[in-house]
Amino acid sequence: MLNDHLRINEKGNLEIGGCDTTELVKEFGTPLYVMDEMNIRHNCRRYKQAMDIFYDGNGLVLYAGKAFLTMAMCKIIEQEGLGLDVVSGGEIYTAIKTGFPMERVYFHGNNKTPEEISMGIEHGIGRFVVDNQTELEAIERIAAEQSKRVKVSFRIKPGVDAHTHEFIQTGQIDSKFGVALENGEAEEIIALAARMKHIDVVGVHCHIGSQIFALEPFERTAEVMLSFIADIRDQYGIHITELNLGGGFGIQYTEKDEPLEYDQFIEAVSKVVKRVCHEKGLGRMYMLMEPGRSIAAPAGITLYRVGNVKDIKDVRKYISIDGGMCDNPRYALYQAEYTALLANRAAAAKTEIVTIAGKCCESGDLIAKDIAIPPAKPGDIMAVLATGAYNYSMAMNYNRNGKPPVVLVKDGKSRLIVKREDYSDLLRNDILPVDL
Ligand SMILES: *Cc1c(COP(=O)(O)O)cnc(C)c1O
Repeated sequence: MLNDHLRINEKGNLEIGGCDTTELVKEFGTPLYVMDEMNIRHNCRRYKQAMDIFYDGNGLVLYAGKAFLTMAMCKIIEQEGLGLDVVSGGEIYTAIKTGFPMERVYFHGNNKTPEEISMGIEHGIGRFVVDNQTELEAIERIAAEQSKRVKVSFRIKPGVDAHTHEFIQTGQIDSKFGVALENGEAEEIIALAARMKHIDVVGVHCHIGSQIFALEPFERTAEVMLSFIADIRDQYGIHITELNLGGGFGIQYTEKDEPLEYDQFIEAVSKVVKRVCHEKGLGRMYMLMEPGRSIAAPAGITLYRVGNVKDIKDVRKYISIDGGMCDNPRYALYQAEYTALLANRAAAAKTEIVTIAGKCCESGDLIAKDIAIPPAKPGDIMAVLATGAYNYSMAMNYNRNGKPPVVLVKDGKSRLIVKREDYSDLLRNDILPVDL
């Protein structure tokens, strides 16, 4: 099986976190997101322990909340001793309401609104990761209004090719995120910030892409970033003490994917950072890493009910499910690939090549194209694996479909952490003017 927290029980049903998926479906209905709590915690620990072992604990692992964030998830991340990377007022609000320690929250994003900046400063967010000069000026102004000082880091484009899908490659100069090294933007903004009264320049940050399977882009990025830190010190006398190397560590969606062990990223990068810091006399550099997908994705599966089966002779066989792009838009966005199986006949041989289609009114609403599964019939339960990241967090209400609930499983017990949106939830913000 793709993940070792999944197994097939004596009834031939798929089990996650000790819970029979067919029982979960009876209790909570379909579509249903299921997250394995111990797998989330285990993934957090892999990173945290690697930081302790290979980098003497002189750093912090930040979970990238955009992958999957709810109050329960926030609590788990806090309990595991990780920090949190947020990109919106909504994510900040989730952290505040969960009581997450705000000094461990790092605020990213290429267009933070004045309201979001103000909210972040007011609640004592740990770092603003500044994207551009307009934003820097807004932070200085709002910090002055609140008589506060703000610690900032800068989103840098290191210009490293991350060998990944074009849409999720973000380290190059032609990107909406951050300031570039090669045209001098990066040093200009840091020099400017260092002269501001309410700003403390503490770090630089980069994030070179997502679903990356190689160590080398991270190692090269670390070198580039540290050389830049040394240049800034030599030219401007500005001492940067934090290096944030972002996330993007690849996971296994299908058998074709060959991910590395999570510790390897931190191990490899730690070696480079220690060596270059020594060579360039940079002292002890506090290091941050920001895994999102690799913490949440493997922990999650989505359960659907199979509906209509359409076998178009000599063309293609479509299996329609009761969800689709509304709960998992990743195929529609990037032709993402998944592994699927029948949860109620999990050991059955995968003898058919089918295309799994969602129920939305879009031809591109697919979950997987031409994948092998056992012969499926209406009423079967389809499990799509490794959906813990960028599924619930990207879910939408297209066609007025309510978002599925999220269930957290552990030791054979299930707890609802997000309830299902029902029809009345869909009308919650609708206003029918009385004079209409
Ligand atoms: C998306 C993102 C991450 C997490 O990326 P994953 O591929 O989910 O690990 C980390 N940092 C930043 C700034 C991001 O934008």
